[in-house]
Amino acid sequence: MSEKTLTLETPHRTAGGLVATGVSAWFGERKVLDRVDLVMEPGRVTALIGPSGCGKSTFLRILNRMHEMIPTASLAGEVALDGEDIYGPGRRLTEVRRRIGMVFQKPNPFPTMSIYDNVTSGLKLSGMRVPDKDALVEQCLRRAGLWNEVNKRLKAPGGALSGGQQQRLCIARSLAVSPEVLLMDEPCSALDPTSTRRIEETIGELAAEVTIVIVTHNMQQAQRVSDTCAFFLAEQDTPGHIVEAGPTTDVFERPADPRTADYVNGRF
Ligand code: ADP
Ligand code: MG
Repeated sequence: MSEKTLTLETPHRTAGGLVATGVSAWFGERKVLDRVDLVMEPGRVTALIGPSGCGKSTFLRILNRMHEMIPTASLAGEVALDGEDIYGPGRRLTEVRRRIGMVFQKPNPFPTMSIYDNVTSGLKLSGMRVPDKDALVEQCLRRAGLWNEVNKRLKAPGGALSGGQQQRLCIARSLAVSPEVLLMDEPCSALDPTSTRRIEETIGELAAEVTIVIVTHNMQQAQRVSDTCAFFLAEQDTPGHIVEAGPTTDVFERPADPRTADYVNGRF
């Protein structure tokens, strides 16, 4: 392979790397995650897979400090964004949330707010001033793959869109505050196959600019969209942990652990 090709295939972004080290989580006395280590590289897509209840959503919430909003929740370990602990003293929550966005399983645009206002809704909260809002709205809707469908009706309420369009609107809303990382918790589970494909295309295009961490139960989707894959498992009396993580092709084609092989081949 020539050096040039290598350069092209290497992500050009170096910012937005997220590193979790020894992350454990509890709800009350119950431990649900045990010492999770995971490197989520800039410009790449990391898929989190594993059976329900193994702590994927909890882990995702820890990555942008949403876990701490749950009264019974506690955690240990470290999460670093570009080498800085997001839980470190003096780190502002609003700044962490701006830099690390989240898209949920169920599309949750503000239903009565216009498409335009949905996109710009996070700016104030993040204390961001934008010289040209119209340009920002267009750019975000384009990046989310929604512009062509809504550019003539930006004043229509977000709730008037189809489920798949609403999810892309939520992606556009997340992008408006220029996040370095986008966390996506089963973003396509509530969507039809066509909408799912559209979101996957969007993820593929965004990956060059934003570090993406996606939880998915769809093994084909994990293979289509991710570069790196982490298999989580919670066994009897064992809290959720990573069984194995690595390049997606390795995890699916040459799994090191028989439990990974069973899971990715649909055997449990
Ligand atoms: P996954 O996303 O992999 O399905 P979750 O992170 O949602 O798993 O859940 C991990 C474990 O933590 C599960 O046993 C779940 O019941 C428990 N759990 C999740 N949220 C809460 C909560 N708010 N309070 C108490 N337990 C919770
Ligand atoms: Mg979940």
